[in-house]
Amino acid sequence: MIMNKQKKIVIAIDGHSSSGKSTMAKDLARELGYVYIDTGAMYRAVTLYALRKGLIRDGKIDEAALEAALPDIHISFQFNAEAGRPDTYLNGEKVEREIRGMEVSDWVSPIAALGFVRRAMVEKQQAMGKEKGIVMDGRDIGTAVFPDAELKFFVTASPEVRAQRRLDELQAKGETVSYDEVLENVKKRDYIDSTRAESPLRQAPDALVLDNSHMTLAAQKAWLMRQVQLKMNN
Ligand code: C5P
Repeated sequence: MIMNKQKKIVIAIDGHSSSGKSTMAKDLARELGYVYIDTGAMYRAVTLYALRKGLIRDGKIDEAALEAALPDIHISFQFNAEAGRPDTYLNGEKVEREIRGMEVSDWVSPIAALGFVRRAMVEKQQAMGKEKGIVMDGRDIGTAVFPDAELKFFVTASPEVRAQRRLDELQAKGETVSYDEVLENVKKRDYIDSTRAESPLRQAPDALVLDNSHMTLAAQKAWLMRQVQLKMNN
């Protein structure tokens, strides 16, 4: 594929939970030699921290304690060549596996709806993308983090397809969880993410929309690369 890779741009990928955003971002970053930043992993790491420190008790988040603890939460990424994607670190500890479990998934959307958490994460994300040459996936990248991103995607698929994909992933990691439990979590996160007051999940008006419910990974990748090629070459 002939592509002008000299021009460094910001690529924003937003969409619903388990819609395949991270696969798309990973493919793009590899193809273009860009850095991939998984912003969901950042909110997940904050959630893991809160759970471990007992800041979520009796079904409630201790918001004041979490806000006070924010300066002690250091999140970083290190590229894992074997996985072809970055691993997430929380205060120097690799937590890639821990942040993907059901307990974190159950709490991450309420944590990500807190204004002080969002402001702290968005600031970090903007700093990471300052030099461009990044692919960032999340919920508010094209609308709030990088509203001027040169290329924006909005990805979705039906809740049932997304729940099945997530279930397959969890089972492959040895988690025992039911389809209904995962479907409920997917729907609940969609609802919280789209209705929260602070930068809710929205399709940016200039985003290219992809519904991949009935698309193979290969077809998705071909479509994606075509869009990037068009952008980079004009
Ligand atoms: O992308 P992933 O599903 O891992 O994200 C976990 C959760 O983090 C989402 O359900 C959402 O609540 C939150 N999130 C967010 N803004 C982002 C990325 C993720 O609110 N930019």
